[in-house]
Amino acid sequence: MKIKIGIIGGGFSGAMLARHLLNSKQNLEIYIFNNDAKFGRGIAYQAQIDSLLLNVPAGKMSAYSNQPDHFVDWLNKENKESKDEFDQKFVARNEYGCYLSEIWEETKKIAALSGHIIHPVIGKALQIIPKDGALELQTHELNLSLDFCVLACGNSLPTRPKTIAEKNFNSKRYSNNPWHIKVEAIQPDKEVLILGAGLTMVDAIQVLRANGFKGKVNCISPHGFNILPYEKPTEELPSELKFINIPIRLSEILKLFHQEMRLYPTKIADLVALLRAKSGAIWSNFTHEERDFFMRHLRHKWGVARHRIPPESYAILQDEIKNKSLQIHAGKITAMEFQESLVFVEFQERNSNKKRHLCVQHVINCTGPASDITIPNGGILNSLCQNDIIQADPLFLGVKTDVNNYQVYSKENYPIYALGNLLKGELWETTAINELRIQCEELAQVLINTFNKQ
Ligand SMILES: Cc1cc2nc3c(=O)[nH]c(=O)nc-3n(C[C@H](O)[C@H](O)[C@H](O)COP(=O)(O)OP(=O)(O)OC[C@H]3O[C@@H](n4cnc5c(N)ncnc54)[C@H](O)[C@@H]3O)c2cc1C
Repeated sequence: MKIKIGIIGGGFSGAMLARHLLNSKQNLEIYIFNNDAKFGRGIAYQAQIDSLLLNVPAGKMSAYSNQPDHFVDWLNKENKESKDEFDQKFVARNEYGCYLSEIWEETKKIAALSGHIIHPVIGKALQIIPKDGALELQTHELNLSLDFCVLACGNSLPTRPKTIAEKNFNSKRYSNNPWHIKVEAIQPDKEVLILGAGLTMVDAIQVLRANGFKGKVNCISPHGFNILPYEKPTEELPSELKFINIPIRLSEILKLFHQEMRLYPTKIADLVALLRAKSGAIWSNFTHEERDFFMRHLRHKWGVARHRIPPESYAILQDEIKNKSLQIHAGKITAMEFQESLVFVEFQERNSNKKRHLCVQHVINCTGPASDITIPNGGILNSLCQNDIIQADPLFLGVKTDVNNYQVYSKENYPIYALGNLLKGELWETTAINELRIQCEELAQVLINTFNKQ
């Protein structure tokens, strides 16, 4: 009898997990559910326009942790450039998507040759119901009885801001999905508003311009403009942060970090990178109070140092600001009124506390993926949470999970596992390819060991 596994989400995490599960000696039947047909690509690597670049150099984007040059070699199939040239290059996200699609096609071929079966299911997985010792997975069309389920749901759509009434959610004046902006509804010259000033905002501007939008882009975020370009890491920075012992208290890290900042004032990106390499272990050992303090006081600073953009995208942004075709306001939106052809926006400026007003034709939500699974949204994570099958972590950043074996916490110890973005509350940094590829490999091994014991 084959062991039946359901993977919910067919982006990088779900597709790579399926790939590694094929190492199992037990015969498997893997059902992998994805909202669209582009298995492997997920949200990030099927960009709305081809010119959007990866935010990480190609040398760090291999899908396999034990073959660091795998992606660079794939790019350099014809050996036209030296490896070093590719290593530091920011290539197009859609090109990376082609790489992942190729791996997915190989995965299906390997499955066919090895006695495993992979069923790619295009459609939404709606609910998992524990029943008679198995897990019943429901979609609109199917009811499947499975032995194991893995939640690899990745990036959720942003939460609708409270200032946008529910009735305006589907308005042609509003794009709640920043990865699929309603460009067809945007006229070439009237102003638009972007909510949020992070990496998604940089993409949104490029999508608007590539689609012929020539008007002014306004952007409102609590902290204003704070994006930095990627810098090549300094080789062998002699920093104490390399040698910290874990567990370590947040106060000790901060003390050491400030000392190091005085020694290397221009090397903040390198210092954060040193911490980031150990961030999972550091975060896992923090108390709830330390995590909470970080979220309230340090999250933004960490994000600025850590989320860098390619120099090419930074130059585009600088030109926009210089030409005054982009204006970034630090502030908080207090009201939005949608009318047939316009949206009136009121916001409170951060520095002056004064109320300001804008009149725009379209609003794009770039506030980042939603993480609180307790908020009703019709999705599988919320229904699992409502049915008490999974729980949110105490900071509502994802799903409460044992990061030693990726099993979610549940009263009945259900064979449900999670990886990727859903582990943010447990690991904090759990979104980039170099983190996810290790999780996919480790979780596959955990599951294979479990199958062997059965
Ligand atoms: C715009 C963007 C750019 C990025 N750029 C980089 C980069 O350059 N380098 C880097 O290292 N990282 C980058 N990242 C981080 C990125 O999140 C990861 O690299 C990776 O793509 C995440 O993969 P995932 O499979 O975990 O999630 P996702 O890519 O979000 O895939 C999850 C998939 O699951 C599907 N799904 C979810 N719920 C269900 C359901 N109930 N039923 C069926 N299907 C479902 C979704 O439709 C989606 O296809 C970027 C992220 C974004 C959003």
